[in-house]
Amino acid sequence: MLNDTLPKYFDPRKNAAHEVTIEGRMLLSVFPELSAALASNEGDAFVHLSFRVDEDRRYIATGSIKSTVQVECQRCLEPTSVELEIDLSIGFVYDEDHAKNLPGDYDPVVMTDGEVVLADMVEQELLLALPIVAYHPESGCNPVALKYASSTDDAPDDEIKPNPFSILADLKVKKN
Ligand SMILES: [Zn+2]
Repeated sequence: MLNDTLPKYFDPRKNAAHEVTIEGRMLLSVFPELSAALASNEGDAFVHLSFRVDEDRRYIATGSIKSTVQVECQRCLEPTSVELEIDLSIGFVYDEDHAKNLPGDYDPVVMTDGEVVLADMVEQELLLALPIVAYHPESGCNPVALKYASSTDDAPDDEIKPNPFSILADLKVKKN
């Protein structure tokens, strides 16, 4: 059973019992926290999830999230794209205590009233996968932006700028 439209909410127990597979695209602009961390929230993420009940009767989902996101290059401060490909292996749990009993190969996702908000789950996975720092590939930086970025970065420019009062003082001296 394949749904090509992603649901807003889902019941992991029901999906696992019916071995449901869902897949589709979500716009990056629906993720507020992620959007704030990106240079641009244009684009989307492709989500694929297959649900089942495992041998220990856990409700689980395996699948992937794929997306190309724009983040700020730390060298020239212009956007650079980063490809994210996240493998998912999720165990759905009732609470934090229940999560502690999950084997290490599952990431816990806590259900609220038996349901999970798909966008919240996908957003958390994308945030965790974002690189802490990103750069354009070698020599891929925007040269103009690079010059600007480096000149503002390490500039003890107090010494370079003439002090307006000292100019005034000079003028006064010359007048006299
Ligand atoms: Zn760059």
